[in-house]
Amino acid sequence: MTTTLTQTSTAQLPAFAQKFLKEPKKLFIDGKFVDAKSGKTFPVFNPATGETIAYVAEGDSADIDLAVAAARRAFERGSWRKMSPSQRSRLIYQLADKMEERLEDFALLESLDNGKPLSIARVADVPLAVDNLRYMAGWATKILGDTIPIPGDFHAYTRREPIGVAGQIIPWNFPLLMAAWKIGPALAAGCTIVLKPAEQTPLSAMLLAEIAAEVGFPEGVLNVVPGYGETAGAAIAAHPDVDKVAFTGSTDVGKLIVKAAAGNLKKVTLELGGKSPNIIFADANIEEAIAGAAFAIFFNMGECCSAGSRLFVERPVFDQVTQAIANAAKGMKVGSGLDQSTEIGPLVSDEQLDRVTGYIQSGIDEGARTLSGGGRVGDRGYFVAPTVIVDVKPNMKIMREEIFGPVVAATPFDDMNEVLEQANDTVFGLAAGVWTKDVSKAHNVAAGLRAGSVWVNCYNVFDAALPFGGYKQSGWGREMSHNALECYTETKSVVVKL
Ligand code: NAP
Ligand code: MG
Repeated sequence: MTTTLTQTSTAQLPAFAQKFLKEPKKLFIDGKFVDAKSGKTFPVFNPATGETIAYVAEGDSADIDLAVAAARRAFERGSWRKMSPSQRSRLIYQLADKMEERLEDFALLESLDNGKPLSIARVADVPLAVDNLRYMAGWATKILGDTIPIPGDFHAYTRREPIGVAGQIIPWNFPLLMAAWKIGPALAAGCTIVLKPAEQTPLSAMLLAEIAAEVGFPEGVLNVVPGYGETAGAAIAAHPDVDKVAFTGSTDVGKLIVKAAAGNLKKVTLELGGKSPNIIFADANIEEAIAGAAFAIFFNMGECCSAGSRLFVERPVFDQVTQAIANAAKGMKVGSGLDQSTEIGPLVSDEQLDRVTGYIQSGIDEGARTLSGGGRVGDRGYFVAPTVIVDVKPNMKIMREEIFGPVVAATPFDDMNEVLEQANDTVFGLAAGVWTKDVSKAHNVAAGLRAGSVWVNCYNVFDAALPFGGYKQSGWGREMSHNALECYTETKSVVVKL
């Protein structure tokens, strides 16, 4: 492993970023940028250095009340409600175009705020966010009901109508992309929105608010209220005038959202954690499987809900595969996300650094062995070396809990039924991978895995048209695709006596 923990100070950043970061970022409520009612702000850190790079207004329940009221007005009475689907579609396309024009600015903010390599933000986060908005913009004009033959002299049909005010709470691992996954279908369906970015990464959502204001969405359609989960987030989840809450984050907080939503029985969709199995059979193209398994866990520093964090390798190739992944890990460049050659940036926060290194240590304490990595890199910033762990047992914490870092636990298996049982032995069910040249084995394993996405001879392939979401405790509902759109509409049956 090579490390260059060289840092770019804010003074060396492009003019846009210096200007953007200088003034405290305000809440975006009812089409205006405003201070928090409390007047409070909170600091945003650069995870590569631990330094404060900006201050952001700290929304709490009082600000959420204002944002929900604005969203309600925009939904019930504003021009948004009367706007034709094609006008709505056009605004979403314009938002996507502006985002694409500002690709470099968004990518820079994402790298600074989250720590991820700028190279990833440029080719993944921002283009995928743009693509998601365009995909959903296309749906705005294609939300259809059915005509339904029923007995008697009746004309019966369904209408799909927007659910209303959507509260959206998003995490820090792909801040802009998660915002796009959420706002795209809500806007296409005609909902209005109160979006709360994660406290760790609010910056790209604030730039998103700026360009939404430029595009000219009617006031109150999109409100962005950064703040803490326990205050602003909880206020959204419990709010009696929010019709639907969409959440991405940890399974523990997902359960709190469900409880809070019970007050007014708001609709809930959840995209939660994972402990995704990645299964390599001895008959796979081994070179590709090795590279794919490394990508599955180390992409975005393992801060991916779909990360292939449990690796199952057929026994005859176990040592070869795990050694090769460990060697790849040792060769990865760990450093500041802004450094062009960085492959592994810092984790998002000191809290996440402690969590991930704590998990590695717990594995070692329980008798597992590291083939690469094993802990923190340097003493500044939140860097963790890409880590491969073997000699694991099914009941170890590192095999059961989501680590959300560049840490893979690998174990050998002997046959297909055995590995399916082990792969499904988890409370999660978000994603899975399988590597084999045997077509029937591939399809059988894909069918046997209890997970919302299965990748065969590939990993982490996402598209706006593909549904994404979890079985079991990995979530409720689906993101992206027409499935996501359905989560933002109600179906109304209309029966007319002829
Ligand atoms: P988290 O607490 O679940 O945060 C996700 C979002 O929920 C953030 O916007 C957070 O706000 C908000 N939130 C927190 N408590 C809330 C509450 N009581 N009511 C409403 N909203 C609330 O996740 P985390 O603490 O940042 O990360 C912990 C672990 O969660 C990670 O190690 C990882 O295992 C998992 N995680 C999963 C995903 C995923 O994509 N599935 C994403 C992130 C994290 P604040 O950030 O402002 O507190
Ligand atoms: Mg949190």
